[in-house]
Amino acid sequence: MDGGHDAGRPIVTDAVIVGAGPVGLFQVFELGLLGLRAHVIDAMPQAGGQCVELYPDKPIYDIPALPRCDARELVERLLEQARPFAPEFHFGHVASGLERSADGLWRVTTHRGLVFDAAVVILAAGLGAFMPRKLDLDEARRLEGVAVHYKVADAHALAGREIVVAGGGDSALDWAAELAGLGASVVLVHRSARFRAAPASVARMHALCDQARMQFLEGDIVGLDADGEALRAVRVRARSGIVQRVGAEQLLVFWGLHPALGPIADWGLDLEKNQIAVDTATFGTGVPGVYAVGDVNTYPGKKKLILSGFHEAALAAFAAKEYLSPGQKVPLQYTTTSPAMHRRLGVSPDLSDLA
Ligand SMILES: Cc1cc2nc3c(=O)[nH]c(=O)nc-3n(C[C@H](O)[C@H](O)[C@H](O)COP(=O)(O)OP(=O)(O)OC[C@H]3O[C@@H](n4cnc5c(N)ncnc54)[C@H](O)[C@@H]3O)c2cc1C
Repeated sequence: MDGGHDAGRPIVTDAVIVGAGPVGLFQVFELGLLGLRAHVIDAMPQAGGQCVELYPDKPIYDIPALPRCDARELVERLLEQARPFAPEFHFGHVASGLERSADGLWRVTTHRGLVFDAAVVILAAGLGAFMPRKLDLDEARRLEGVAVHYKVADAHALAGREIVVAGGGDSALDWAAELAGLGASVVLVHRSARFRAAPASVARMHALCDQARMQFLEGDIVGLDADGEALRAVRVRARSGIVQRVGAEQLLVFWGLHPALGPIADWGLDLEKNQIAVDTATFGTGVPGVYAVGDVNTYPGKKKLILSGFHEAALAAFAAKEYLSPGQKVPLQYTTTSPAMHRRLGVSPDLSDLA
C-alpha cells in the first residue's frame, strides 16, 4: 500500500516511522494525539512486526488491561487505535537511506525508490527488517536474481524450466506444488522428510510425487554448477554422504526470514551491539530529530517488551513535538478531558457530567 505515491517525488510529512511492529503502530497514535501525522515504512507486506511474523496465534499475557490477547489481535487493536490519525503505510519497502536535506528536513529513501521529507524520523525497526535466509555459496550470490531466487516475482517466467525448490515450510511446498504443472521438472530439496508446512500442503506434495509430477529429495544443497549466468545443476548431499547432481535452470530458496538491522546500521547512529543507543528522557538518538523506540534501541536497564516500547513511544512523541516547536512547552493533556485530543481522535466529549 503506497497510497498512490510516485517513486522519486518526495512525500512531505511530519514524521516517518520505520517499522510497523507493535511499537511503530503505537507511535502513530502517540504522535497523532499531539497533532503530528506519520507515514510508516515496513519491509514486510503487512503490519505487526515480530507479533505477526513470528507468533501470530500465541497469547500474550503482559499487556496492561488485556489479561490475554493473541499477538495478531493485539496488532489489529493497535491498528484500530491508530486509525483516527490516518497513517499512510508503505509495506514491502526497506528504508535504506537517511540524510539531512538543506531545508533541515530528514530525507528517508526506500530501496524501491520512495522518498520522504520528514521533520522527524522515528526508528521502530525492532530486530531489523526480515530478510530471506540465503544460500551461503559464492555461486548463489553471483546468480541471485538471475537463476537463484528468494521470492517468485513472475511464476510464468518459470514455465518449461527445470526447477529446484529448497525448503520445508509453507512457501517451499506451496510453490513446488504450484510449479509442478508449469515447469519442465520440479524437485523439492529439504534436509529432512519432516516439514514445517501445513499438513494439507505436505499431503498435496506427497500426492504430486506419487503422480510423478514432481520429486522430493532429502539432503543439503552443497554446490551449484553453472556456465556463466546459466545454472546447470544443483548438487545435493544425501544423508548417505553421496552427492547427487540435480539438473536445474532455476533455484528457488525458501528457508524463511531472519531479522537484520541492514541499512540502518550504516546511518552513523551510535550503536551498541547492533542496537541504537538512546537518551531515556526523549528516546533521541543523539542526532537531532531522529528517535529510536522499541526493540531497536538500548539503554541501561532496557527490557525488550512491548510494554516498554509503548512507554518509549509516548516520550518520543513529546520530544518530537518539542523539537518541532522550539521554545514552547508541550503541555501534558489527558485524553479524557482534552478538547484538542478529542478533535484529533474524532470523538465527542462526554457531556453527561454537565447535564
Ligand atoms: C516468540 C516471541 C514471543 C514474545 N512474547 C512477548 C510477550 O509475551 N510480551 C512482550 O512484551 N513481548 C514479547 N515478545 C517480544 C515482542 O514481540 C517485541 O518486544 C516487539 O515485537 C517489539 O516491537 P517493535 O515494534 O519494537 O519491533 P518488531 O516487532 O521487531 O517490528 C519491527 C518492524 O520494523 C521493520 N523494519 C526493520 N527495519 C526496517 C527497515 N530498514 N525498513 C523497513 N522496515 C523495517 C520490520 O520488518 C518489522 O516489521 C515476544 C517475541 C517473540 C519472538
